[in-house]
Amino acid sequence: MSDPFAELLGSSGWKSSSNETRPYARDWLDRFGEPPLGVALPATTEEVAATLRLCATLGISVTPQGGNTGLNGGSVISAGQRGIILSLARMNRIHEIAPVAMTATVDAGVILQALNEAVASHDLMFPLHLGAEGSAQIGGLIATNAGGSLAMRYGMMEAQVLGLEVVLPDGSIWDGMRALIKDNTGLQLRKLFCGAEGRLGVITRAILKLQPAPAAQATALLVLSDVESMLRLGARLRHEAGDMLTAAEFFCETGLAMLLHHLPDLRRPVETPGPFYLLVELATSRKSADPKVLLAEILEQAFESGNVVDGVVASSAAQRAALWQLREEMPEGQRREGPQIKHDVAVPVARLADFVALTEPMLSKILPGVRVNPFGHLGDGNVHLNLSPPPDADFAGTEAMLSQAIYDLVVSVGGSFSAEHGLGQAKVGLADHLRSPIERHLMTALIAAVDPDARMNPGKIV
Ligand code: FAD
Repeated sequence: MSDPFAELLGSSGWKSSSNETRPYARDWLDRFGEPPLGVALPATTEEVAATLRLCATLGISVTPQGGNTGLNGGSVISAGQRGIILSLARMNRIHEIAPVAMTATVDAGVILQALNEAVASHDLMFPLHLGAEGSAQIGGLIATNAGGSLAMRYGMMEAQVLGLEVVLPDGSIWDGMRALIKDNTGLQLRKLFCGAEGRLGVITRAILKLQPAPAAQATALLVLSDVESMLRLGARLRHEAGDMLTAAEFFCETGLAMLLHHLPDLRRPVETPGPFYLLVELATSRKSADPKVLLAEILEQAFESGNVVDGVVASSAAQRAALWQLREEMPEGQRREGPQIKHDVAVPVARLADFVALTEPMLSKILPGVRVNPFGHLGDGNVHLNLSPPPDADFAGTEAMLSQAIYDLVVSVGGSFSAEHGLGQAKVGLADHLRSPIERHLMTALIAAVDPDARMNPGKIV
């Protein structure tokens, strides 16, 4: 089995022993992943194309893998499938940073943090920020259409992509590497690959939009008594800070208490315990503007009106990092607590307060004492609604009922059952149940048109 791949890709491009393939075989949360027949590590677009042609000849499937940080099992082999993993790890060159056009031309295997470090020396930034940025790759971020904490201000990954190069399932190469914002030459093909989770081909290169790096930032962590107050403050910040508002991230006392218990090096940032905490950040590239002054003015009014109960403004880079760490380590605190059920949903901002208020009583009827930990991105209504069982207990077989109740509520308020993590294999059944027949038909037909033999990452999305 391994010989033709080894012949094609050489010893550094093909791994087939179980010792070598093990690190690639399971997903980040260790929930999914059949053993692959091998792991291909092509070094060029032409090698990716030749690998896909070989897979077609041999009749085996291909699962593209980036940093393997996806949270729905998209980057590993689906149950019952026989296939290889194609890792982009060796395709990690930053080809060009164009400071005047404010674009970067990169291989798909470039790690997000490496891109951020490279553009920083040009006084630029790539506006995507998420907890997995030390491992997640540009190709994976495009294939999942990642969001993160800056999405409210700059949009999701698809908004950052100008051009793409993709190897299609039959091994042909689509060269869509055009650095254009305006390119209305028919269907927006580059958009099709954003969020396709590797089902339409392997993304090999991209041209990305960059933004001016902030010259100054102001960050605060605020304590609020309810979601309604958070939303009111969020709206006020948008009015008064305009495009300086780059993040509005929330979490709750349940999550913070778990985090401080399991990561004792972290400190409670304010004396007054919340029920809710809002991390806000203003940033600007304008040298003449001072976001700290503006934030102080807005917060003074917010304290006076009673919207904010307590808060702290970061006075140094270290303090800013410590505040962000509380938000970013939220999933880690809950992971260390033991069994959990994760939900990545979005609800219209206007329904967010109702949604959060309804969840705990609704879920307590199914499992009394269940601990509900909502946190996420206030500005775009994206809630990570994660559950832990009552202390010293387990979910006692209620997992499916709890999740179903949440998804039904999400749909009833006009929300999305997958906000930014995609579907992978974890949510295929759910999608089949909740997506309209027309959406299902469109997606199935598009995938079948590009990949009639269903060899690209089967078992994901549909
Ligand atoms: P992988 O996990 O390797 O793959 C994900 C999917 O993309 C798979 O379907 C895979 O087949 C496909 N794929 C990968 N590379 C390619 C390619 N070159 N061509 C075609 N298909 C490809 N996500 C958010 O959106 N926002 C967050 O705030 C966020 N925070 C996170 C925090 C932590 C701690 C962790 C572990 C994850 C977080 N994620 C978040 C999820 C994850 O980081 C993103 O989904 C990310 O985009 C995955 O990138 P990756 O390179 O690891 O892709």
